[in-house]
Amino acid sequence: MIMKDDLLWASWICVLLLLPFQGLAQDNYSEQRKRMLEEHLKPRGITSKATLSAMGSIPREAFVPDSKKPFAYDDRALSIGEGQTISQPFMVAYMTQALHLKTSDRVLEIGTGSGYQAAILSQMIDTVFTIEIIKPLAQQAIQRLKNLNIANVVVKIGDGYYGWKEKAPFDAIIVTAGAESIPLYLVEQLAENGRMIIPIGPHRGVRQLMLLKKKNGKIKSRALMPVRFVPFVRDKQYP
Ligand code: SAH
Repeated sequence: MIMKDDLLWASWICVLLLLPFQGLAQDNYSEQRKRMLEEHLKPRGITSKATLSAMGSIPREAFVPDSKKPFAYDDRALSIGEGQTISQPFMVAYMTQALHLKTSDRVLEIGTGSGYQAAILSQMIDTVFTIEIIKPLAQQAIQRLKNLNIANVVVKIGDGYYGWKEKAPFDAIIVTAGAESIPLYLVEQLAENGRMIIPIGPHRGVRQLMLLKKKNGKIKSRALMPVRFVPFVRDKQYP
């Protein structure tokens, strides 16, 4: 007859036997992260040392739901709940590299989402400011960043359309949701020589990833590539 104690022992033995596999899974993630750099980023023109180093150190698996962890290093966007997505790793690296960041730059991100892009930026500059309109996503991102001991990201819950006046001007602004037009408050809050990267185009259609630069108070812009992003929404659309 199987006794209660025997069952208890058996479950302890199972736990002990499985422990080394947890370590293996972690090793496996760092291997996958290295492979991501070699297969998806470097061959597609990501050469910035700071960008590659950040992408090689931030664990993307920590920013996706459990069910998506096996796909954390696939080069594609993944669902993070609330109808939103964490961007494809190549896109995160590409947008980061295009901003030509210096450590001392003040950077604003609109669309915190999972917190992954902000975590990447946190490795490259002193302080990252980021705004998310969906409260539960912002709260989860804050928790994830805390778990990883990332203390230089400031998350605000709100409509990024208005930017973050009290923290402006920004040397770089990165918008990770697709807008129909360039939000003027963001242009205003861009510093002289500031750069902004933002997907612009029709709602739910293919948009152009635009790079804007402010020189002598004037904006120059150029289209970088066609992209797909979840839409930039306004506070009225998301109560
Ligand atoms: N940068 C994110 C991916 C963002 S997905 C990451 O690394 O995971 C786009 C995010 O923008 C979504 O979370 C969406 O809720 C948010 N968003 C959309 N419109 C916004 C607005 N007006 N202000 C702030 N956040 C917004």
